[in-house]
Amino acid sequence: MTDVLVLNFTYEAMNVTTFQRAVKLIFAGKAEIVHNRDRTIASTTLQMRMPSIIRMLYYIRRPRQKVALTKKNVLLRDDYLCQYCGLRGEKLMTVDHVVPKSKGGPSTWENLVCACMRCNNRKNNRTPDDANMQLTRKPRQPKYIPWIQVKRNTLPSEWCKFLFLYNVSIEERIEV
Ligand SMILES: [Zn+2]
Repeated sequence: MTDVLVLNFTYEAMNVTTFQRAVKLIFAGKAEIVHNRDRTIASTTLQMRMPSIIRMLYYIRRPRQKVALTKKNVLLRDDYLCQYCGLRGEKLMTVDHVVPKSKGGPSTWENLVCACMRCNNRKNNRTPDDANMQLTRKPRQPKYIPWIQVKRNTLPSEWCKFLFLYNVSIEERIEV
């Protein structure tokens, strides 16, 4: 595991980068080390501890990140409420294509909703109109929320205090 968490000048978590890129930023004087790992790395000319967290030494303005379109994020947007019958549940919820894929429905925020298995089965390969089912609200792309994607098994404990504001997850991506 050689991923490095990159903080902005303000200590806000920005992204995860490779160890090579992090070392380049440090040697270019653009970033400082906030936390090292126990492991050291050695080349012919230098020996150093592997960085785990670095912080940029200048402020990076960046556009607000969009929320990744994943199954989990669709369920989170809809708060695990079936958008047809209003049933709530964390375990058994599915993601439904409002206009089915087979009828040309795209995999977009506007065409994906949380649905319970019963409604999903009942609706089957039909549009809501054809199935005589109504959406409780119009699905939209969610607004920005602080979001950083980290693989679950690559989250060192020292990162947590910089990520507490974030929904940390990486989930199965929906192929578009
Ligand atoms: Zn339902």
